[in-house]
Amino acid sequence: MAVPKRKMSRSNTRHRRAQWKATAPQLTSCPCPRRELVVPHRACAHCGLYKGRQVADAP
Ligand SMILES: [Zn+2]
Repeated sequence: MAVPKRKMSRSNTRHRRAQWKATAPQLTSCPCPRRELVVPHRACAHCGLYKGRQVADAP
């Protein structure tokens, strides 16, 4: 198994960890009249539609 030859400096470790960035979720609009933004592959939290079909009770 490959083993690092030297201890990685605190500066290098922190620099690498600083490159991690969260990305905003991709949103699509629900086909319901309000056109709410919903996370893909999830039922709409506002009307309970999924792929144009009612799969959950509308709140
Ligand atoms: Zn909806």
